[in-house]
Amino acid sequence: VARNPGEVEFHQAVREVLESLGPVVGKHPEYADAEVIRRLCEPERQIIFRVPWTDDSGRVQLNRGFRVEFNSALGPFKGGLRFHPSVYLGIVKFLGFEQIFKNALSGLPIGGGKGGSDFNPRSRSDGEIMRFCQSFMIELYRHLGEYTDVPAGDIGVGQREIGYLFGQYKRITNRYESGTLTGKGLSWGGSQVRTEATGYGTVFFVDEMLRFAGERLEGQRVVVSGSGNVAIYAIEKILELGGRVVACSDSDGFILDERGIDLALLKEVKSARRARLTEYAAARGSAVAYVPGGSIWDVPCDIALPCATQNELDGDGAAALIRNGCRIVAEGANMPTSPDAVRALRGAGVRFAPGKAVNAGGVATSALEMQQNASRDSWTFEYTEKRLEEIMRSIHDRCLETADAYGAPGDYVAGANIAGFTRVADAMLALGII
Ligand code: NDP
Repeated sequence: VARNPGEVEFHQAVREVLESLGPVVGKHPEYADAEVIRRLCEPERQIIFRVPWTDDSGRVQLNRGFRVEFNSALGPFKGGLRFHPSVYLGIVKFLGFEQIFKNALSGLPIGGGKGGSDFNPRSRSDGEIMRFCQSFMIELYRHLGEYTDVPAGDIGVGQREIGYLFGQYKRITNRYESGTLTGKGLSWGGSQVRTEATGYGTVFFVDEMLRFAGERLEGQRVVVSGSGNVAIYAIEKILELGGRVVACSDSDGFILDERGIDLALLKEVKSARRARLTEYAAARGSAVAYVPGGSIWDVPCDIALPCATQNELDGDGAAALIRNGCRIVAEGANMPTSPDAVRALRGAGVRFAPGKAVNAGGVATSALEMQQNASRDSWTFEYTEKRLEEIMRSIHDRCLETADAYGAPGDYVAGANIAGFTRVADAMLALGII
């Protein structure tokens, strides 16, 4: 804490991992001898830079850009870029730290990193977004490369922004180096299923949790927070597998649609028109309740999927879920559940699965995009989705097997943290003190 003052989200993410590692260090004193944990908590490199750009009225605007290259023991740094006014070093470091373990858990050859800016894309024109992305890349390009550091999207960074970033990278370097960014469009080096991957992967993981307990997704009542990339495709896959989604949210409030969320309308409002959920509610009429500023966790459900942002599910939210009989909480977003909420849910016997396992499908499919770029190939939707599904089911099994091996049967948090940690730690030991 003294070494990284004020970085509260980073402290929270580190504490959450360290709490699981007691039995590991007991079994493997070599990790302690080589100071693996202390080295893991220190990023290999942190870049903070000025991003000046001109808005539509000709005024100069200024933002701050970040890239934290956290750990490359398993492969090039890999992790998304977030554009949101809340972004500061503590957020980027928490996300980068989580990313190390998530990427390790995926079993793929990728290290961990994360980046972004305090730029707020909301209400900005297309031209402003493009000029911002171009200015951001003027500094970032020198740190990237398919063998060095490969960013992707996150909150506020979708295919449009990746396009502007890649266009500027290509222009500065004079190289069509597709493998430098993932989340690209299909006609310019992207992979099938990347857009859907995090949401679909989340639901494959939940489906595996249910199957493990002899249950099915069919007929389950589900609440999904957020209405961005992860939330929309989680909803799509739940509906495909026969579940019923009755509520979703944005940062202004939530909608409760007892007839079941109309996915086509949701996509039209959020993806095509980039509008707010109030417009969804207006189009659906009186059957839908829009609750401004309300807590979506008050809506009774069997399964809750927080898919918006960090610490969105707090102690009160957890208490409401428990009261209403929720049985599974799986994190589609990164660290959306506060520590007291995690404790309350687990204490009440709710099956809880952490983001670094549940939402690993996004980065896993990014790694599949890199594979396709490297071999100048493109796979079909069906093949890519099958690969994603296999990866998610094997992450699920790896969590449970590891939890068993370390004396914590059924504990997805311990399983994910320990399985991710041991893979990175072993690589760090093999590579020496670097
Ligand atoms: P999007 O920008 O597409 O959507 C984010 C959603 O969360 C929006 O509905 C947004 O509402 C809401 N939201 C954002 N900030 C807040 C806030 N402070 N309070 C309440 N709601 C908020 O992002 P993604 O769907 O891509 O990402 C969602 C989460 O999933 C993040 O935690 C991200 O790190 C994680 N994730 C994403 C991956 C990906 O592949 N995209 C991969 C792995 C994890 P509004 O429109 O009002 O801002």
